[in-house]
Amino acid sequence: MPENKVRKYFNLIEAWIWCDICYDMVSLNIEKKEIQNGLQTGIFTKEYKHSNPHPDLEDPDDKSGEEHTIYIYINDKYDVTGAKSFFGDSPSMKDIEATIVSGGEVRIPIVVKDIPEMSVHLGMLTQEEYVILKICDGMNTLEKVADIAQKSVEEIEKFLEKLRKKGLVKVIKRA
Ligand SMILES: [Zn+2]
Repeated sequence: MPENKVRKYFNLIEAWIWCDICYDMVSLNIEKKEIQNGLQTGIFTKEYKHSNPHPDLEDPDDKSGEEHTIYIYINDKYDVTGAKSFFGDSPSMKDIEATIVSGGEVRIPIVVKDIPEMSVHLGMLTQEEYVILKICDGMNTLEKVADIAQKSVEEIEKFLEKLRKKGLVKVIKRA
């Protein structure tokens, strides 16, 4: 799987993201202003609906010609730190589990209540904690959260333990 690429311009970024459904890179432009507005919450997420203009017509399993969504995480340096492709409104548990490379237990941290950005200003949460909570959208395994937040799994485990005690997050485990 080729690496995601970003070219940064004055007003916008051009991103090439690997789409698991198209099995190809998709490219899109995003205004920096849009990212900056979204970044007030620490990490920017973009949903990009598209379809593959050249699906493999010989392959009955290739559904990439149908509209689907790629969900992209972008950090404050305008780098893409994660992406996920799915059909419909959100990825299914099957899509999430498909991203797990090794066997064993699957842990999916998920935010249990809506956390206003104000919590950061009020000092109830650090900016870092807020970013991690935002990535815990139920679509990412613990390892993937670490990847997107650009931290180690151990660091994320520590954060999550703290946030769990505050009653903000729970970790769903699936064997
Ligand atoms: Zn695609």
